[in-house]
Amino acid sequence: MTDVTEIFASEVFNDSVMRSKLPKATYKTLKETVEDGVPLSLETANVVASAMKDWALEKGATHFTHWFQPMTGITAEKHDSFISPSDDGKIIMEFSGKELIKGEPDASSFPSGGLRETCEARGYTAWDPTSYAFVKDGTLCIPTAFCSYGGEALDKKTPLLRAMEAINVQAMRILRLFGNTSSNHVYTTVGPEQEYFLIDKKLYEKRTDLKYTGRTLFGAKPPKGQELDDHYFGVIKPRVSEFMKELDEELWKLGVLAKTKHNEAAPSQHELAPIFTTGNIASDHNQLTMELMKKVALKHDLVCLLHEKPFKGVNGSGKHDNWSLTTDDGINLLNPGKAPHDNLQFLLFFCAVIKAVDEYQDMLRISVASAGNDHRLGAHEAPPAIVSVFIGDQLQAVLEALENDAAYSEKKREKMLTGAHVVASFSKDTTDRNRTSPFAFTGNKFEFRMVGSTLSVAGPNTVLNTIVAESLKQFADELEASDDFEKSLALLIQKTIKKHKRIIFNGNNYSDEWVCEAKKRGLSNYSSTPEAIPHMLEQKNIDVFTAHGVYSETELRSRCEIYLENYAKTINIEARTLSDIIKKDILPAVSKYVNSLSEAALAKKSLISTVDTTVEEALVSKLSSLSAQLYAEVGKLDIAVSKAGEHKEEIEVFAMYYRNEVLSLMEKAREIIDELELNTARDFWPYPTYGELLFAMD
Ligand code: ADP
Ligand code: MG
Repeated sequence: MTDVTEIFASEVFNDSVMRSKLPKATYKTLKETVEDGVPLSLETANVVASAMKDWALEKGATHFTHWFQPMTGITAEKHDSFISPSDDGKIIMEFSGKELIKGEPDASSFPSGGLRETCEARGYTAWDPTSYAFVKDGTLCIPTAFCSYGGEALDKKTPLLRAMEAINVQAMRILRLFGNTSSNHVYTTVGPEQEYFLIDKKLYEKRTDLKYTGRTLFGAKPPKGQELDDHYFGVIKPRVSEFMKELDEELWKLGVLAKTKHNEAAPSQHELAPIFTTGNIASDHNQLTMELMKKVALKHDLVCLLHEKPFKGVNGSGKHDNWSLTTDDGINLLNPGKAPHDNLQFLLFFCAVIKAVDEYQDMLRISVASAGNDHRLGAHEAPPAIVSVFIGDQLQAVLEALENDAAYSEKKREKMLTGAHVVASFSKDTTDRNRTSPFAFTGNKFEFRMVGSTLSVAGPNTVLNTIVAESLKQFADELEASDDFEKSLALLIQKTIKKHKRIIFNGNNYSDEWVCEAKKRGLSNYSSTPEAIPHMLEQKNIDVFTAHGVYSETELRSRCEIYLENYAKTINIEARTLSDIIKKDILPAVSKYVNSLSEAALAKKSLISTVDTTVEEALVSKLSSLSAQLYAEVGKLDIAVSKAGEHKEEIEVFAMYYRNEVLSLMEKAREIIDELELNTARDFWPYPTYGELLFAMD
């Protein structure tokens, strides 16, 4: 039996390790850096680095790396060994404070969206002491931010840290207004639920599309799908269970609070949820979780698919971003609480979120936009591309009561407090979870459900923190200026509900009626990535990010470019993969089958001239005609891809071209391939089918 308490965080240079390994004064100075952002002196860094190295050597490490999250979406590492030559011709193991604090990877090939010309390439990495260092595969990993020499963020961590600071500043202003003098910091807490598929490795190896693009580009619907709902929360198969056990242990060693695991709705789909933690650490941990899922799967002859939609017609994978605000002394600001006074504070924070989501619905949509997630949002399983907030019936009633107090008076105030009192009896609403909502209040936190399974949660949380910081800032400005706090507070809450209630929707987000209704309410509905991304540069969005020091305008522009370029590149790879598969595998395979059918018919006829060859003839005819259609379609696809370069000048047009001209041709080709698959004998079909891929472990 594994002693979980023994292995937990055993590979992490965390607070208790630091306390035991660092001189008292150094520990204290470092704590100040972590908690209050006091800059670290090189002297202190040297002491920390030395202790860190000794600890890492004990753990068997030989190398160190600055571990960072460039805009590619994965985590990057460049390993350096600790070795350094010594005078006697041998080596010593060294690690300096300078190496700990700052790194200069030759990282010229990471996307920078024009921020950094490749000729003057080097950005630098800077230690993020708020996220602990850890040992992984014999390497000391130091979580770092990645910036250009001009100081612009080239990664996902830097803006997240900035946005967490922005929301801290504004939330603290509100808390002080409510007379809170004990809390010193407001953190965002995040618990990302991670969905994924597990596929047999031998079958995966045979699917070129999965290997190159992460998703199947064709595949006919299997006779059995998920209609029986017999996989969701079902018994976990032994092979999967072994995988999950090892994954948990590996994650625990790295201090990741892996908590629940279960089967998801689709066959071969699973989920892992951690216990929530501070936003920045949750984001780092989620990156580690995804990395380890892939690695551990391979050890079990499985492949973990993190694509948002690996299989058409089968549920895709998301990553629910559970989010709340907590003070350093442990108060969850989105917990309705028991006393009316607390409830008013809760209501204010709650309204700040509603206002933020309404005013920046486009930014939330953009924060989850990717080629992969386009297949998922709005596909009647995941939330639609329309952002709305689910608050449940009870809170709905509370807000309505508050809204309908026509004007504020003593009597009304009583009413308001009574209204607020309803909240006191409001406990976690388990009856109506409304799985269709993109942004749901679930008792003491919000759950942003549009995030795709592959995406880093850093981006969505950067947006969420910034836009809520903006609401809180406006609230604080207004309340600080008032000489009657209670009166202004009541009016402010009421005004906010009135103005932003259009974003609240408790009904079925999958229904067609909602699409119409949302349009009437003026909510945005950007169904694709190239349509959504350019809205990043609307003036109000530039304003909010620059005002809170989260992104400079230059950084925003560069990100817009990176995302659109990434979209175009993704579809380009998919189209070329599909074309290759059609020409090299599918058409030849069908031709072989047609040949075998023809030969069979001829052979039969030479034996008995009047024999019935209906089946062979019908199939030869059908398959030949489908092949001809496919050949024509792939020709069109090749031309479309080859012409894409003509639109390269304008990145928005370029991305849209891939969406409108290339993706649609891929879809057409796919329909024909799926029809061919259904009519080709198993022995001749060159790829594992959906049925084989999804039910391999049954
Ligand atoms: P549910 O079943 O309602 O989804 P769980 O308690 O299982 O709720 O939580 C799901 C995820 O939400 C977990 O990852 C959990 O850690 C996270 N979570 C719970 N409370 C919070 C919070 N206050 N802030 C952020 N995440 C939270
Ligand atoms: Mg959930």
